Amino acid sequence: MKMNMLTKDLFHERMRSLQKDRTIKIIRVPIQTPTLWPHTETNCYLIGNDKESLLVDAGYDHQTTKKELERAILENSLAKPKSIILTHSHPDHALGVRQLIDWSPIVYCHNDEKQAIMAAISPVNELSILNDDDIIRIAGLDITVIHTPGHTAGHLSLYIASEEILIAGDNIVTDGTTWIGPPDGDMTDYVHTLNRLKQLKITKIGPGHGEWVLNPHEQIEFVLERRLYRESQIKSLLKEHKQLTSNRLTNLIYKNTIHPSIYEVAKRTTEAHLIKLMKEDHVSLKDSVYSLRS
Ligand SMILES: [Zn+2]
Repeated sequence: MKMNMLTKDLFHERMRSLQKDRTIKIIRVPIQTPTLWPHTETNCYLIGNDKESLLVDAGYDHQTTKKELERAILENSLAKPKSIILTHSHPDHALGVRQLIDWSPIVYCHNDEKQAIMAAISPVNELSILNDDDIIRIAGLDITVIHTPGHTAGHLSLYIASEEILIAGDNIVTDGTTWIGPPDGDMTDYVHTLNRLKQLKITKIGPGHGEWVLNPHEQIEFVLERRLYRESQIKSLLKEHKQLTSNRLTNLIYKNTIHPSIYEVAKRTTEAHLIKLMKEDHVSLKDSVYSLRS
């Protein structure tokens, strides 16, 4: 009797180990990258099972990128990705492709991001194009491509409706807000993108930096409100001071609370707001000085 039980247990254990792991997994893999304060890591995402998988974003051009990704692939019993989707061209998201050349991946991006990515990831020079609303099927899972301009012109996000998950790239970061500034960023597009994303049924956001966001709608609203607040703050500062440079405006907005390493980024975010306000005919620019239109 005892022997029989043991044999049976061993048999089941053996069967379990022989069974392939076909469960679909969506794994966040934070990779050390030079990125903007307060973040030190950029997220890559592995999506798939032991038969088929894809990688979203590739981290930085550094050996640890490949090591970390291959460790996550092994730990989660995933197939090696044959496709890499780049959300955008920034070095902390795209350059890692260079480390992954021996995977022979097909690298995907949006057409509006193609040139910037080409320049960034050379010698990799073949890119496949994804368009808004394209569906990618991986390991039986449908992933919808969403063109989400704002942070950059050809920024992509991925929506997995069956799981209610959005892989948001740099549209959403866990701590605070993402930076939007010229020449890559466009505030008008960004506000439009956020308004579009908040219509989706989402229970979890995979951000470009930081932990999974488990209060997605709240976080999108927070970012939208922060942008609208900043815009009204700029308008009232211009009303009060009549004429301001973007430097002076940035100093008035942040009142020395800003980490020096991101001053330039803050200034460019201010400029992105000013460009939006000029497009809407609320603000005019003359000799680097901004003023409200009456
Ligand atoms: Zn970025």
